[in-house]
Amino acid sequence: MRDTVTRCYRVYGIVQGVGFRPTVSRHAKKCAVTGSVSNKGPYVEIFVQGTLENVDSFRTLLEKEPPKRAVILKINEIPVKEPVVFTDFGIIESKKTKGEIFISPDIAICDDCKKEMYDPKDRRYLHPFINCTCCGPRLTILDTLPYDRERTSMKEFPMCEKCAEEYHSPATRRYDAQPVCCNECGPEVYLIGRSEHGRRAITYTRRVIKKGGIAAIKGIGGFHLCCNAENPEAVALLRERKKRPMKPFAVMARNIDAVKKECLVTPEQESILTGHQKPILLLDRKSGGRISENTAPENPKLGVMLPYAPLQLLLFDYDDGITMPDCLIMTSANTSGAPICRDDEDAVRELSKLCDCMLSHNRLIRIRADDTVMDFYKNRPYMIRRSRGYAPLPVPLSMNFKGQVFAAGGELKNEFCIGINDLFYMSPYIGDLEDIRTVEAFKETSKRFLTLLEAEPEIAACDMHPMYNSVEVVKSASLKTLEIQHHYAHVLSCMAENDYSQRVIGVSFDGTGYGTDKTIWGGEILFSDYEGFERSAYIKPFLQPGGDLSAKEGWRIAASMILSLSENEEEVWAAVRKLDLCSDAEFNVIKAMTEKNINTVKSTSCGRLFDAVSAILGIRKRSTFEGEAACALQYKAMEYKGAEAVPSYILEEDNAIILPTHDLVYDIVKKRLAGENISYLAWYFHKSLSEMAVSACLKIREKTGVNVCALTGGVFQNTLLLSMTDDALTDKGFTVLTHSLIPPNDGGIALGQAAAAMYRLNRK
Ligand code: ZN
Ligand code: ZN
Ligand code: FE
Repeated sequence: MRDTVTRCYRVYGIVQGVGFRPTVSRHAKKCAVTGSVSNKGPYVEIFVQGTLENVDSFRTLLEKEPPKRAVILKINEIPVKEPVVFTDFGIIESKKTKGEIFISPDIAICDDCKKEMYDPKDRRYLHPFINCTCCGPRLTILDTLPYDRERTSMKEFPMCEKCAEEYHSPATRRYDAQPVCCNECGPEVYLIGRSEHGRRAITYTRRVIKKGGIAAIKGIGGFHLCCNAENPEAVALLRERKKRPMKPFAVMARNIDAVKKECLVTPEQESILTGHQKPILLLDRKSGGRISENTAPENPKLGVMLPYAPLQLLLFDYDDGITMPDCLIMTSANTSGAPICRDDEDAVRELSKLCDCMLSHNRLIRIRADDTVMDFYKNRPYMIRRSRGYAPLPVPLSMNFKGQVFAAGGELKNEFCIGINDLFYMSPYIGDLEDIRTVEAFKETSKRFLTLLEAEPEIAACDMHPMYNSVEVVKSASLKTLEIQHHYAHVLSCMAENDYSQRVIGVSFDGTGYGTDKTIWGGEILFSDYEGFERSAYIKPFLQPGGDLSAKEGWRIAASMILSLSENEEEVWAAVRKLDLCSDAEFNVIKAMTEKNINTVKSTSCGRLFDAVSAILGIRKRSTFEGEAACALQYKAMEYKGAEAVPSYILEEDNAIILPTHDLVYDIVKKRLAGENISYLAWYFHKSLSEMAVSACLKIREKTGVNVCALTGGVFQNTLLLSMTDDALTDKGFTVLTHSLIPPNDGGIALGQAAAAMYRLNRK
């Protein structure tokens, strides 16, 4: 015994329902250590005994090769005072108790299952619902806890004898896999409103797509609308029926080779594309691809994903002799504003007129999950929409928080968050709460999440905006509420994602949010920590004539800014006409509105400033979808290849620094009128704005000594502005926090709200 050591590890994370204990047991045998593994509430406990060398190599192996789908958040080593002697390594069966389960996100079909599905000799040959311990739906089929088949959508499908055998045997790939099923006992696909089901339904759908039609297809987290991405007429038809003229559609490609024919793929991107979460990745398009230009018009990027549900693979490859295209449009099926359709009733009501057939199945979707959308920044994922495959993976903080909180998130791109001690669970994407149907989805999903996580929040955090539906819902629940200013929540979200809790200079460049002075904010530099914030700097306020309309029509803001371009009215009129911003009549209306302050709000919105400049440069005067004008401006700027310095200054007022964006706009108007190149000017705008932010950060550092900046807010989805600002700050010696797996946009603010609420709860 003298040379024997005994260690006890507690492993936290997604460690249940993913084959954790069998893997641990295999590792132990490999390393010649004895001991045991058991589920202990929120963690798995492992005892290992052996020589120091063997015990160390076990630990290394556990960290290097955890069970495929496990997510290890942390491993704590617990001192062992009086070790018992273990003669072998055992899996200890334990009862599931309250609070025990970390809910796993849905997992894309694994290679083993794929192989079986296409093996004519396998009993799950072409089974559209094949899954195993390593793959399959999780969150989306969960009803209540504890997580076992009886409490999932699979309860209606009793296991056949063979499936039950696999389910109960630790030696099989399907040990403890709740959704396990086969052709005998599993769910079935069928066409809504037609008699075809099973094989015939799949073939019928493939034929519709092949012929240029549109199919609605029920997937893991909701329905998609699908058509041949390589057929311009089919894509045009979908645009026409969906009344969606410009917004890019996502594409599902047959395999990674098909992706590489259309787009540039780095090794890091490839590993995400082919990984088990299968988000939509925004990739740079190559020329000469086969995908219709109309899939993402005037856009250098394309949103691409690979099939993640067995049924999606069957759309590409089936044994019915039909050859399918390599790339299909796969866009969330919903009417504008409404949440993604998840059952037949939704589909019939909302999709009948949009598609030529509807392929559904009888496994219920309990929780909707849209596809996750991800960009890349400096070779790392940069989240745009965090949903399927990622929700509800918790964000861990190391603050030793205790308690439970709920955070409602923002009004647009809503995702809510539940904090339990140091873990923060973000919901899947809910959508825009301006639509009452989405508000219903918000209520239902948040209720279900609270049940699943067995959470009873003590505080609910929300935005400050008096008109937000999310705020109303929170306030109507009888809970203590905490209002968090929108852009401060963005900063907190970035801090939380980086597990950083000291003071930061938070650059929150965003669309719009309600400020503490009741005006619209959105271009803020907030000196922040968990205690609160100081508004250290902001974009020079401008007017947004036309209220909500101005968010879609950048020319309105441009026109109102140009009103003060010069004292000389003739010069102003000449500029508006030459820029072709609007008609004379329209300009007169804007003039009257701003002079008389009719339906006009004061704003520091950075997003709206991008819209205005986009209009001034003649790139987009209005947007058909959120962010269109700003994205087009970014793409235009990316065409410029220079990197010269630009003049930049900031203004210091009594209590704050002002970013003189008005002057920048006038400068750009004059240069444009003088015939300067558009892509240069687009770049010049990005560069100057970034320089202003950097100058302000330098000034704040001078005053406070704080050397850490956080870059957050929807505008920082713009990776050109992000890299300019990030690089310049880094150059000046700042530590820069950026987002990665939490969106910089409003989809991420619930995390900041939740962290703030948890902080309040723990500050005593
Ligand atoms: Zn599998
Ligand atoms: Zn079966
Ligand atoms: Fe925002």
